[in-house]
Amino acid sequence: MRSVIPDYLAEVLRDVESNTSGQLADYIPELAAADPKRLGAAFATVDGEIYGAGDIDTEFTIQSISKPFMYALALADRSFAPVLAKVGVEPSGEAFNQISLESDTGRPFNPMINAGAITAHSLAGSEGMNPTERVERVVHGLSAFAGRELRIDEAVCVSEMEHAHRNLAIAYMLRGYGILTEDPRAIVEGYIRQCSVLVTARDLAMMAATLANRGVNPLSGERVVGEPVVRQVLSVMSTCGMYDAAGDWATQVGIPAKSGVAGGLIGALPGQIGIATFSPRLDAHGNSVRGVSLFERFSSDMGLHVMEVPAAARAIVRSNHVLGDGPHAVRVLQLQGGIGFAGAERVVREILNTAPAEVRVVLDLTMIYSINDVARRMLLEAVRRLTLDGHEVYLVDPESIVPDPDPGDGGRVTVVGVLEQAVISQHKVAQHRSRPTKRGT
Ligand code: GLU
Repeated sequence: MRSVIPDYLAEVLRDVESNTSGQLADYIPELAAADPKRLGAAFATVDGEIYGAGDIDTEFTIQSISKPFMYALALADRSFAPVLAKVGVEPSGEAFNQISLESDTGRPFNPMINAGAITAHSLAGSEGMNPTERVERVVHGLSAFAGRELRIDEAVCVSEMEHAHRNLAIAYMLRGYGILTEDPRAIVEGYIRQCSVLVTARDLAMMAATLANRGVNPLSGERVVGEPVVRQVLSVMSTCGMYDAAGDWATQVGIPAKSGVAGGLIGALPGQIGIATFSPRLDAHGNSVRGVSLFERFSSDMGLHVMEVPAAARAIVRSNHVLGDGPHAVRVLQLQGGIGFAGAERVVREILNTAPAEVRVVLDLTMIYSINDVARRMLLEAVRRLTLDGHEVYLVDPESIVPDPDPGDGGRVTVVGVLEQAVISQHKVAQHRSRPTKRGT
């Protein structure tokens, strides 16, 4: 059997191919020479599988798609406080090259517009790095996100630098406000080198998948940045990533995204996939026309909008029943799925509503595939309270989904591998009780 995904991608590409509206970016002359017919789309899963159709191995310059990654590197290299002091997180609702700085401090509104991105570039690498070392750090960092060594397109770089009057003006203003502390020209040069890094749609999908995978590159396994950095970057992508079209994008597509004027577009869907498209003609906002159409299709065809409400937590309690009778009766709550706060709340409420009369209460986690920290703490607290109410509590947890099953402070729990071990005779229960928090087999 052939995978269904490349065929789906090819079909969607065919649907948008005839749309030839939009213009090549021409304020960077070298970009005006791009082949407008290019079209490609790639998906990279968080476990490293890549699916693609069309021109996914054609190189083009990353341009503004470097901005979220640069922001990530600045946050990782300098920590949050110094970066937030110099670059805000408020959507500006303006074009990418607007000279929009906070009126009193001169702080750029966010790192996705050029003013914020130029500042973020100046904060990449350790303090005291010279511009050349900083560019090396940047190219190395972008390469780690992509999982392969990337290089700079010198021709695009020279072409952009010759016409960089606006970015230079922005940088000189930032220098005037003390947001930049070095030679503005050298920083703009570095920023433009960053924008001139060559990537393919395949690379971009993997870079986005690294964000979707909590900062770990799915192929190399390298942790590129930490989870708090990823959360910050994805949040800013979702509010500011599409310039003055950010609101339309948030409602229509709903995937944290970033576009670039060479025609690339990425989206990172947390925990699921990284998506990249490539088509060089741009709309009035500077976003790829066919890229936007592709993302609209992906989002609606596959339910990828981040605000799409997941299956209700009520399905967490698969069954609530009693096994046996008399003094040997055992109350069993069989749980299923992934548990977060809402799921744990549902389990706690189920226990309260049931008010089990049975001494033994079993929480069967065999069909739970994930549990987050708050849910783990809530379940263990419920276990502790059940113990204090005189119950003997068992967790059926064959895959150690609850890593440290210690309810603390007067709570006791016996962990077993299969349900039968929790409903065995009183005699055997007594043996288990002697090892209250140890795992059975
Ligand atoms: N290097 C471009 C600039 O600063 C990036 C713009 C973009 O891709 O939106 O003008």
